Amino acid sequence: MIIVGAGPTGLMLAGELRLSGVPVTVLERLREPTGQSRGLGFTARAMEVLDQRGLLSRFDSVATSTSGHFGGIELDFGVLEDGHFGARGIPQARTEAVLEEWATELGAEVRRGCELVDLTDDGSGVDVDFEGPQGAERLRASYLVGCDGGRSTTRKKTGIDFPGSEPTLEMFLGDVRGMGLRSRFLGEKVTGGMVMAAPLEDDVDRIIVCERGTPPKQRTEPPDFSEVAAAWERLTGEDIHDATPLWVSAFSDAARQAAEYRRGRVLLAGDAAHVHLPAGGQGLSVGVQDAVNLGWKLAAVLNGWAPNGLLDTYHEERHAVGVRLLRNTRAQGLLYLTGEHMRPLREIFAELLEHGEVARYLAGMVSGLDITYEVGPGDHPLLGKRLPPRKLLTGSGVTSTAELLRSGRGLLLHGGDAGIRESVSGWADRVDVVAAESAEDADRDFFTKDTDAVLVRPDGHVVWATPGGGELGAALRRWFGSPA
Ligand SMILES: Cc1cc2nc3c(=O)[nH]c(=O)nc-3n(C[C@H](O)[C@H](O)[C@H](O)COP(=O)(O)OP(=O)(O)OC[C@H]3O[C@@H](n4cnc5c(N)ncnc54)[C@H](O)[C@@H]3O)c2cc1C
Repeated sequence: MIIVGAGPTGLMLAGELRLSGVPVTVLERLREPTGQSRGLGFTARAMEVLDQRGLLSRFDSVATSTSGHFGGIELDFGVLEDGHFGARGIPQARTEAVLEEWATELGAEVRRGCELVDLTDDGSGVDVDFEGPQGAERLRASYLVGCDGGRSTTRKKTGIDFPGSEPTLEMFLGDVRGMGLRSRFLGEKVTGGMVMAAPLEDDVDRIIVCERGTPPKQRTEPPDFSEVAAAWERLTGEDIHDATPLWVSAFSDAARQAAEYRRGRVLLAGDAAHVHLPAGGQGLSVGVQDAVNLGWKLAAVLNGWAPNGLLDTYHEERHAVGVRLLRNTRAQGLLYLTGEHMRPLREIFAELLEHGEVARYLAGMVSGLDITYEVGPGDHPLLGKRLPPRKLLTGSGVTSTAELLRSGRGLLLHGGDAGIRESVSGWADRVDVVAAESAEDADRDFFTKDTDAVLVRPDGHVVWATPGGGELGAALRRWFGSPA
């Protein structure tokens, strides 16, 4: 298996594949990580996904808050059970370092200084041509996954369309020392645009400048800091020209999505499959979740037990998530970055957000906690949704739903049905069976009240639940193949 790109998506996927014993090589163009961080956190669902693999504890501390926003309008994510606005203040470079450490500990090979230049899928494998430190090289892989970012060479060389909307404006981002600015954490609308300033550490601030009426430029190099400081001064009247930039960059509101997440033996994940305005800090998080959706399916194919069509569910499930991602970030851009003519819409939106149902809908969408896949027959409310985080009491003591998913295998969790283990015995090499009861509030809707047992995929989504979830054997076959 070859993955192109050692960003958060590629590294997460590498770890997921290694959990299932698949040999993985990651080709990364850069000789060293840049240390630069576009993202500064991840969403609530991405946190749960990282926790499922025991990765949250590798971060020094993970602070969360329920107060967030939708397009700059305050939104309380606490309206959702287990909901919050995600982890904040974690530089993307730190997330990448954690993921690389985990993936390489599990045996993934990350080859730096290796740039994909071409590929050929001949139906039985993929020839991968790249420029390495010693010159041109070729490898052959059973599958290739392009996690190589918004300008993905994998996507272009495979000929996959990337339809969407052109950029309408250009924004600047910078980490700058010695500005002494007041914090504008959620951004501040000013005449002519929007500015954001958030303290990072050691007198360094993250600034974002959005000046309306700036036609996007086709840049091959980052902007000069003087350009950023001039835009900041035009919008705020504050002179930051003498501050020291650590790095600056430009980005836009272009929104595009790959028409196919899979063509033959080539797949796309993360920014290679979707680019959009970074509103609500969702890009890295969705990329990591693409990887967790794809990893076990690809491993099932390579390990020889994948049921028919399993790999195609990757496009079906994650393309639909990408559609909603582009829609919500576009909507947020319209609310956040437009001028006075949108004020009535913003005001009405603010009123709507006071209604619990509306707030829950939007918080569920941005946090990723509402993702529901089409998984099969039944009317149990957990079907297709993520297994909610719960403390559980098992024969070995107190544990959590996240801990039970650490192995990256399927999970049948039941409340003490003696016969159920027998019905899963043919899948014992793919599915763990655990008897448990709630270790917390018995009124919560899990095991003790309305749920007797759940079958969970390795990515944490429930594909069968009783009562009301169809036949267990059919669900096992559909998601975990034929019994051994
Ligand atoms: C201003 C800003 C703020 C953001 N804030 C957040 C946030 O708070 N939370 C969040 O979740 N997301 C955030 N994002 C989005 C996030 O940064 C991206 O979605 C994320 O980096 C995507 O990860 P990726 O691994 O898919 O792609 P990338 O991070 O782009 O990684 C792709 C990798 O592939 C490598 N590569 C490219 N081409 C080749 C090639 N031909 N051969 C070999 N290697 C190659 C690149 O060097 C790179 O290492 C933000 C984005 C911006 C612009």
